[in-house]
Amino acid sequence: MGRAYAARRNEDLGPHDRSNVSGLSAHVRRRLLREDELASAALAAHGLQEADKFIQEVCWRTYWKGWLEMRPSVWADYQAGLARDLEALERDGALARRYQDAVAGRTGITCFDAWAGELTELGWLHNHARMWTASIWIYTLGLPWRLGADWFLRHLIDADPASNTLSWRWVCGLHTPGKTYLARAGNIARFTGGRFQPGPGELAREAPPLADDPGHPAPAPLQSGARPDPAAPVFLLITEDDLHPESWGVGALDIAGGAVLDAKEGLSPLPRGAAAQAFSASALEDARQRASDAFGCAFSTKTSIFDAKQAVLNTPARQIVTQRPCQGPARSALDAAAPDIRSAGLSLIELRRDWDRAFYPHAGKGFFKLKQAIPAVLRSLGLH
Ligand SMILES: Cc1cc2nc3c(=O)[nH]c(=O)nc-3n(C[C@H](O)[C@H](O)[C@H](O)COP(=O)(O)OP(=O)(O)OC[C@H]3O[C@@H](n4cnc5c(N)ncnc54)[C@H](O)[C@@H]3O)c2cc1C
Repeated sequence: MGRAYAARRNEDLGPHDRSNVSGLSAHVRRRLLREDELASAALAAHGLQEADKFIQEVCWRTYWKGWLEMRPSVWADYQAGLARDLEALERDGALARRYQDAVAGRTGITCFDAWAGELTELGWLHNHARMWTASIWIYTLGLPWRLGADWFLRHLIDADPASNTLSWRWVCGLHTPGKTYLARAGNIARFTGGRFQPGPGELAREAPPLADDPGHPAPAPLQSGARPDPAAPVFLLITEDDLHPESWGVGALDIAGGAVLDAKEGLSPLPRGAAAQAFSASALEDARQRASDAFGCAFSTKTSIFDAKQAVLNTPARQIVTQRPCQGPARSALDAAAPDIRSAGLSLIELRRDWDRAFYPHAGKGFFKLKQAIPAVLRSLGLH
């Protein structure tokens, strides 16, 4: 987390050596490890100056989540665009063949084919490999970016709608207007220690920004987290955005029951990869068991928010308490069910972690603004 991380984190040493990065993203994405825990550990071991780079990287996730929370239409537009791209695949045989070759790792571009294999077999890629793979997908293979983002989202064990969608948008120039990311042969050779050496002319030479975006919507105001009524029983609803209810600060409440919502259906119209599905299922089950133990009542797993609502009605609780999910499947499920929940006489209380509450207001524009605020925010959180 200190100087060694800053110096070597960009190197993709290959799937058998991840010693230069933490490899914690699948846990952080689900808050099985929290950002404040990572920051505290980094600060304790190295101090702010030396842990600076690691904490900044942790904050990239926060930035993407905060940025998307203020612009929910970007996730909705991505999904609508993906549906159109998938229809185009049905109609266009040549496009479908190029897409199938790419996802099967049969493009003939050695590095890309290896990363395609890593992604589908292991469900994980180094950050630099994600950038190169996305860039080659868009600029060398000429494939629609949303199909690539969907491919990642279905296979990554850390699949995070905010980090993934917005990183793909960043690669093709839709996030920072005019700024795109071009995968270069020399950069790949250098940061893979020569494992991959794309030949001359094998990769695209330029990366023009894509022009299929109407521009960023104006940021919507952030909703502040709500508080449950401490005198009334509650039903805890756990989503994959936050699988650590033990640290929600709800221990003093009268918890009448709870459920884990598995909203994976909303991630993609296509099936999820085996590694990602297995990780997700075991993480959800782990949370269900821990919650049952911690709160002393039965927690069930529900794949539909409407079933979860029905489960609430079988308990004395009339308030559902959850950690506010970011844009993505759980958020969409809650939004779709909101009228139904209200008309059943239930209230939905969405908590917000102090970390998000402190950082999100700095995520309205570029990452630089949030980065500048890191020391002050860490102080305000009592971490530094
Ligand atoms: C095209 C593309 C798609 C991506 N899709 C996802 C995704 O679906 N889910 C996901 O979690 N990350 C995604 N990332 C971000 C990043 O690649 C991973 O979070 C990172 O590689 C995880 O490795 P690590 O845990 O070893 O990170 P470390 O380098 O050890 O960093 C520590 C922690 O900081 C956070 N972090 C680091 N880099 C980033 C980053 N660039 N953006 C956001 N958070 C970061 C992660 O929580 C990570 O665990 C994507 C990046 C790109 C370029």
